[in-house]
Amino acid sequence: MIYMNKLIQDPFFIPKNNQKASADIVDLCNEVLNNLDQNKDEFERLSSQILDHYGESYGDAIIEDFDEFGPDSIEKLDPNGDFDSVIGGISEEGFEAIAFYKSFRFVNSHPARGRWGIFFIKPIISRLISEAAFDTGSSIDSAFEAVSRLVYVHELYHYKIDAFCLQTEAISSCATYIPYRNRVSILSMADWWEEAIANYYGLNAILKNSEKYQSDFKLIEYLKDMVKNSPGAYAYGINTSKQGHYRKRLSEQLNVSTVPALFRGPRGQLSPPTLALLTTLIGMKLERPRDRVLSGRLGLVNCPVYWITPPSIMGIKPPFLQAISLSEVEKLFIPKYLNGNKSRKTDHQFFVIDNGSEIKLPNGHLKDLQRHEYKDILRKSGLTSSYFFKERKRTNIWKNEVPRNLILPSRD
Ligand SMILES: [Zn+2]
Repeated sequence: MIYMNKLIQDPFFIPKNNQKASADIVDLCNEVLNNLDQNKDEFERLSSQILDHYGESYGDAIIEDFDEFGPDSIEKLDPNGDFDSVIGGISEEGFEAIAFYKSFRFVNSHPARGRWGIFFIKPIISRLISEAAFDTGSSIDSAFEAVSRLVYVHELYHYKIDAFCLQTEAISSCATYIPYRNRVSILSMADWWEEAIANYYGLNAILKNSEKYQSDFKLIEYLKDMVKNSPGAYAYGINTSKQGHYRKRLSEQLNVSTVPALFRGPRGQLSPPTLALLTTLIGMKLERPRDRVLSGRLGLVNCPVYWITPPSIMGIKPPFLQAISLSEVEKLFIPKYLNGNKSRKTDHQFFVIDNGSEIKLPNGHLKDLQRHEYKDILRKSGLTSSYFFKERKRTNIWKNEVPRNLILPSRD
């Protein structure tokens, strides 16, 4: 079944895939790359290093156009079910845990050989939507829309940079994108400026209230919090006032390979590499849906969007789905991190924690931690789900630098 209006409030937000336009971009890319002034072997070596990063696990993935799957098939979480979450994976890996952008330069390589564009990892994003709806009390429809917009615009920024680089390469004849991706992949996540900017634009897509779209306030807070607690530069998406600085840093990273060519050009006039360099800063912005810097053929609406279901996880649990056991909460999280002390015991156990709140836990051995119980514990300790997983990692599962220094009031 085809869902014509996946995004309920603004169905045109994510454009329909246009096969002719996306094949045209591959042709354009081949034309430009063939005319680059560079060592072919070196270029191949750098390209294959980037491809290694994707891994082989997506070999025979199932791929669908974005409009073939909608909120109707996403399950509501059972409050009495056992607790598990994909938020922990996002807090470690950043957004690439839930979706990725594959360059048109790699159309004939895995994953999704023959296709390029934005890939939503279906089992993980569906699960994130269910969790966002449960945690905020919003509907699956609203969570679907908010999460999809955030993820789409984040990945769209990666396309923007790729397409912008291709334009620059056409002018300068210097390879920009592949050397840049290689350099950045070995830097610390704190220097991944492209991710900071991608998250900033992604958040803007749910924050800005257009007439067509209005997200639930609670969902906005939830997703903002997820970005804030992401690793490295991913978290900088919330620093609105620093985006100009991040764009400057990104253009420096892109220009490293262009700059040496400046000295080869004729003096006293603007050589093509100089021109490319001068336009870089303008090109770091993202203007939806029609970006002024990109030529028509490379327009943002021509970037295809797919769902991908990796074969290794079909029918089994999504990757990154982490369960938190009752014993971890009872023996480590509450006593060590929250400095909790047992207060009384009935058919449940009670703990008084650092902020004065009383937390109720089921008696161990009898059952596992239920989803609604976990939500209640987080609220009483003043934590959000994203912050919980970030702190869990920082403290090496509640062993180091505990109890917490920053005592948060209960969110009751
Ligand atoms: Zn990203």
